[in-house]
Amino acid sequence: MRRSLTTLAATALAATAVVIAGQPVTTTAAANDEVFLVAEAFTYDEGDAVTAAATAASAAGACEDTTYALKTWKVGTLNWMYNGQGVPANIASTALASITTSTNTVAKGTNRCGLAPLTTSTYNYAGTTTLKPQVSSTATCTGNDNKSVTGWGALPTKVLAYTCTYYNAKGVVIASDTLIDNVAYTWFTTKPANCTGAQYDLETTLTHERLHTAGLGHVDQTNNATQTMTPASSPCDTSRRLLGAGDYAGLKALASK
Ligand SMILES: [Zn+2]
Repeated sequence: MRRSLTTLAATALAATAVVIAGQPVTTTAAANDEVFLVAEAFTYDEGDAVTAAATAASAAGACEDTTYALKTWKVGTLNWMYNGQGVPANIASTALASITTSTNTVAKGTNRCGLAPLTTSTYNYAGTTTLKPQVSSTATCTGNDNKSVTGWGALPTKVLAYTCTYYNAKGVVIASDTLIDNVAYTWFTTKPANCTGAQYDLETTLTHERLHTAGLGHVDQTNNATQTMTPASSPCDTSRRLLGAGDYAGLKALASK
């Protein structure tokens, strides 16, 4: 039996905390300063870069920017399961639907740009499970049971979610686990009317994570800020739930690999 390659598919949309342009300064936001994607925090110039990205995200460009980054794997058919243990109470009844929506967004290439649906891989929801995502609270991949589980648990500071993907010698994914933080961050599935502070959109985050599972890496935080695969996300932001042109182009490129 071939030994599988183990890959960290990096972390999720890390939080920013920097108070971004157009958002009121609140004490809550200030308390969450310097929240970055751990795996790639070295690429940032701290607040300035994130502020610039957040500003760019509100501008046009999502459908002009076709930048993407390919990893070395892709999905053929993935059967994913959900473990609702530890789901935050405020989204207990809606989280699975959001995660499913995100998965379908990636499965169908649903985008913000009017581009045709793109079905290059199959994602089947295989039901709930008591199996846990094999991701530790220190953000390490702890093993592969050949099951793809999305669930909840503690993660290190600054990490919203973490995905571990396993693929075979042919570069086809055999399992991908995603752990979503249920300690440090507040999640919503419907954006609150007056959203402030460190509240994050579950759907945006999971679309980003599923794109990691699909085989995409991060694009540049500043130059590609409108793409879902930009590495950081701002609180209360829902603008990247669907794919940008770059995310879409990336899926297309994976299909022809
Ligand atoms: Zn990421």
